[in-house]
Amino acid sequence: MHYPVVVVGAGPAGLFLARLLAADGLDVAVLEEHASVGKPEHCTGLFSPRVLRLAGVSPVIKGFTGAVFHGPDGKTLTIQGREIKAYVVDRVRFDRELAGLAAKEGAHIHLETGVREARREGGEWVISTEKGEFRADILIGADGAGSAVRRMASIPCPAKTISTVQAEASLHVDDVHVFLGSFARGFFGWAVPHHEGMAKVGVGVPNGNALTAFDALLKRIRDELGDARILSIRTWTIPVGGLERYSFPGGCLVGDAAALAKATTGGGVFTALRSAQLAADAVKGCLRNGKRMVRYDALLKRELLPHVRTHMRLHSLYSGLTERDISYLFSLLSKEENADVVASLGDVDFPLRSIFTLIRREPRLIGFLPKLVKAVR
Ligand SMILES: Cc1cc2nc3c(=O)[nH]c(=O)nc-3n(C[C@H](O)[C@H](O)[C@H](O)COP(=O)(O)OP(=O)(O)OC[C@H]3O[C@@H](n4cnc5c(N)ncnc54)[C@H](O)[C@@H]3O)c2cc1C
Repeated sequence: MHYPVVVVGAGPAGLFLARLLAADGLDVAVLEEHASVGKPEHCTGLFSPRVLRLAGVSPVIKGFTGAVFHGPDGKTLTIQGREIKAYVVDRVRFDRELAGLAAKEGAHIHLETGVREARREGGEWVISTEKGEFRADILIGADGAGSAVRRMASIPCPAKTISTVQAEASLHVDDVHVFLGSFARGFFGWAVPHHEGMAKVGVGVPNGNALTAFDALLKRIRDELGDARILSIRTWTIPVGGLERYSFPGGCLVGDAAALAKATTGGGVFTALRSAQLAADAVKGCLRNGKRMVRYDALLKRELLPHVRTHMRLHSLYSGLTERDISYLFSLLSKEENADVVASLGDVDFPLRSIFTLIRREPRLIGFLPKLVKAVR
């Protein structure tokens, strides 16, 4: 079977890209190894309103105007804005609705079609799958954290990954809760309300054992929020910080395959969708005007990579903070006179804007400048 474009992976990046290309009249196939889209689920489903606008689907469970941060010493800081800063969505439905829109535009979604190998032959890709051979002019790796396409294109693995453990728990919470401390140095633990009486609780660690961190998180949740009964549990990794390159002859990588998730929060759906938009431009330029796929690297460099780097620097800065530093930050941010600016924090996609506003208001934060400089170097 020959298609002008074959996309490996039916996650948000692959499905959105397939929809954009199919809407432009291109014949696109999406190859997905699992029997259904959206499963197994590996996401908390906390998205900024920007993500839902971009995706054009919104299986929203609940909206949040803020979050409760739990410091290392158990003190809490509530950041509460006026507008909705984030929605928790049903991630399985999110992916399935994206698949529905892609199929409606004419994309062919092949399930249980895991890609085993891909090779270049006479200017086209020959892709071996569980269901036989596919041929394509352009091959897209939208196959997530452990991308096989990245390996086949000989692009080195991302420099950094966040190891995570997330569970579904019966836990009654109304707000998003974030737990900070040395149990998850450089990242954090979370408890996010989902369907009635249920929450997603999880933890990420850049280095170290996420299962040990998860035990520590559960203890804190039980001490600070109440009893949580674990119903199911899953480990996963989030690649962050980008790659050496993103395109290869006749193809490119999008979303988690390209390690574009935010190193600060692990959120990767915004960058998955945005990278799919940029890849769609590059693919059309390649097929219609003979431009090279390397143009995708230039588009990423201009649009997304500066933000990917900013999140890496903030992540390095945060990783260098001790529990004492975090408690000190809590005390500064808890001051009454900072309430309005703290309330305006929370653009999780572009955090620098909020941070600069905060430093202008609370110059004592300059005390953290040496750590910031060290992180940026
Ligand atoms: C615990 C956890 C919580 C998270 N929470 C959030 C959050 O709240 N908000 C947020 O924005 N992001 C979150 N993320 C990150 C987010 O889930 C990812 O960034 C996002 O799913 C990336 O989308 P993608 O399409 O690039 O990859 P994926 O969603 O991983 O999709 C890749 C697809 O490729 C398929 N595939 C893989 N290999 C093959 C193969 N060889 N052949 C065929 N198919 C293949 C997979 O089955 C999968 O369907 C979280 C991640 C984790 C681990």
